[in-house]
Amino acid sequence: SQKAIVIGAGIAGLAAAVRLVNRGFKVQVFEANAHPGGKLSEIQHKGYRFDAGPSLFTLPEQVEELFRLSGKSPEEHFEYLKLPVACHYFWEDGNQVKAWSDIKRFAEEVETKLGEPAENVRKALKESAFIYDHLSPLFMHRSLHQLNTWINKEALKSYLKMGKLGIFSTMHKANEKRFEQSKMVQLFNRYATYNGSNPYETPATLSIIPHLEFNIGAFFPKNGMHDITLSIYRLALELGVTFTFNAKVEEILVENKKAVGVLVQGERQEADLVVNNMDMVNAYKSILKKQKQPKLLLNQPKSSSALIFYWGIKKNFPELDLHNILFSDNYKEEFEHIFHKKSIYHDPTVYINITSVYKPDDAPEGCMNWFTMINVPNNQGQDWDSMIAEARKNIIAKVNRILKTDIEPLIEVEDVLEPRTIESRTSSANGALYGNSSNNMYAAFLRHANYSSDIKNLYFCGGSVHPGGGIPLCLLSAKIMTEMVE
Ligand code: FAD
Repeated sequence: SQKAIVIGAGIAGLAAAVRLVNRGFKVQVFEANAHPGGKLSEIQHKGYRFDAGPSLFTLPEQVEELFRLSGKSPEEHFEYLKLPVACHYFWEDGNQVKAWSDIKRFAEEVETKLGEPAENVRKALKESAFIYDHLSPLFMHRSLHQLNTWINKEALKSYLKMGKLGIFSTMHKANEKRFEQSKMVQLFNRYATYNGSNPYETPATLSIIPHLEFNIGAFFPKNGMHDITLSIYRLALELGVTFTFNAKVEEILVENKKAVGVLVQGERQEADLVVNNMDMVNAYKSILKKQKQPKLLLNQPKSSSALIFYWGIKKNFPELDLHNILFSDNYKEEFEHIFHKKSIYHDPTVYINITSVYKPDDAPEGCMNWFTMINVPNNQGQDWDSMIAEARKNIIAKVNRILKTDIEPLIEVEDVLEPRTIESRTSSANGALYGNSSNNMYAAFLRHANYSSDIKNLYFCGGSVHPGGGIPLCLLSAKIMTEMVE
């Protein structure tokens, strides 16, 4: 049978391996790290377990599909639950809102607590569903770089609705029209951060994201986010995919405009097909440096990055849920810092993710595992050491004000992830979380295609290529890519 080599065991690389082995390929994965998962890995420290990167899980059917197409029942291999509360929001003035996944209940809650008419919430989520239904077939499930994507019935239906799909307005402006209360505008603006974009610039089209969380649902894997990685990795092993860890690919070998294999640790490994899961920008700088560079695509602005403190907290806070947001008092200024000043605002929005709420063995009894994150600019060579020290103080002060506590003495374990280490651990350009940002209306077209137009037998998947970053889109990139393989 034909042989495929996959470079990188990130979530998209794993999915690509599973799909290709199902297509009859003999598949070998080379991974630079000692473990699979890339950004979706985990950290264990003195009785605490933390999911290292992604914390929010939507569209679980993208994971399940991998089991189904392999003839296995997903329930037996990967368990998850639907969250009753997608997120618990806190403001400095004492206001709190729970985003119930039951939309009626959520709408009632914001009407009582924030004075926002329930009807506005229902209407906003309907609009979100409308955009999703019209654009997802076009932008999420197909290659944008092939003519037949643009000439078919679904596409034609979408063209007729272009105005309504929010392509010409920003997310913030659209939310200002949808809601009366500034807190609701802020809450719905936050969805831009789900792909590392700026709500004051990103097209209103991205208002499809609340549809994923409310109408379709927010989920949690019963064994933690890392189980997404582990379950797909185990599936790949069962299907006969071979993995080589601590194996950094040095070059994609190209002969007569055809990918013929890779160079790993000085050794030539031949293949009929090469799939790259490494970040595109760094791939063109290293393993594709001899090839023609798609400069326009590579020079696109990158998404934001993150600063995370993994804190083992020796106390239980019953008011906290799995996902918690402590909002900044000045959201606009916060994004101005992240995307234009390339620095960190002194009053950042603090996200606290606590898996021990649903998975008690992630922390010792009476304790909690806090994944405490703020959005930060991607790495442009800033003085991160001093920025991080300053941000840590500001985060602690904010947590103390809002939760009326003194958190510092309760921190018994601490680990940090920041733009520089995100880049060094997963080769992600500038430590961006989601590849290119979506801050302009052409962004979708300025992501790299899932195949190479210059080099035969070379394909791409992962967060820096079409359709974009985040677990569901990465999994879809592997699907789109495999469907293009002849
Ligand atoms: P990556 O995870 O980037 O992995 C690429 C792999 O390739 C790595 O393992 C790397 O070691 C390997 N590699 C690179 N170069 C080579 C080489 N030359 N040879 C061999 N191997 C190589 N998404 C969500 O859906 N929800 C969230 O809540 C969320 N939050 C996030 C929070 C953080 C802090 C981060 C960092 C990301 C978050 N994301 C979230 C985004 C999500 O993690 C990514 O979009 C996704 O995991 C990227 O997967 P990938 O397949 O592109 O590869």
